[in-house]
Amino acid sequence: MKRSRNIHPVFERVVKREDKEKLLKQHAKVIWLTGLSGAGKTTLGATLEQELFKRGFLTQMLDGDNIRSGLNKNLGFGLEDRLENIRRIAEISKLFLNAGVITINCFITPTEAMRQMARDIVGANDYIEIYVNAPLEVCEQRDVKGLYKKARQGLIKNFTGIDSPFEPPKNPDLEIRTDQLTVEQSVQKILEYVLPKITMKNKPLFEKR
Ligand code: ADP
Repeated sequence: MKRSRNIHPVFERVVKREDKEKLLKQHAKVIWLTGLSGAGKTTLGATLEQELFKRGFLTQMLDGDNIRSGLNKNLGFGLEDRLENIRRIAEISKLFLNAGVITINCFITPTEAMRQMARDIVGANDYIEIYVNAPLEVCEQRDVKGLYKKARQGLIKNFTGIDSPFEPPKNPDLEIRTDQLTVEQSVQKILEYVLPKITMKNKPLFEKR
């Protein structure tokens, strides 16, 4: 009781998400790209970010480079650590969401339980799940970082699709077959889906109170 009384006044003074969104003239969402290594998450995430930036949207891309090398550098690739990895990423995304910023998350997110946890933390209304899908054979043939080869040689353990599971999303908001579409066509499809959700109608002027 005492606690909540102490917290309340601070809460009152915090600038609301809604007002931050007005400042940025956008609706914040979490765009979560899930799929096998080499499916195209980073490529599409980066291109999507460029396209959104051109249209005046403020975004933050989250991927292995900026998460696993810093905040989550104490985590490995066993299922438990992967779950914790996703939990922290979802919590970070929620902070960005409350700052009015659109995050573009590029993580394998291999299991239904992990994606469900992410959806629960972010909130279903703000979570957009995009299944970046190419068959394992195609991803392995691309082998962008040479990781499949190492995994096949047993040099990397717990590699998704080889000796760690990937459960295809059952109900993604959008599925992109990157073995059938070009990068441009793929990003176009994502933009068509995402733009109506992040665009603020009648872009209101931000008023200082
Ligand atoms: P991930 O981030 O999922 O591990 P990357 O984006 O690093 O995958 O690698 C995907 C590879 O597939 C890149 O070499 C990219 O050029 C190629 N590619 C071919 N078609 C597509 C497409 N439609 N979308 C994304 N990537 C594609």
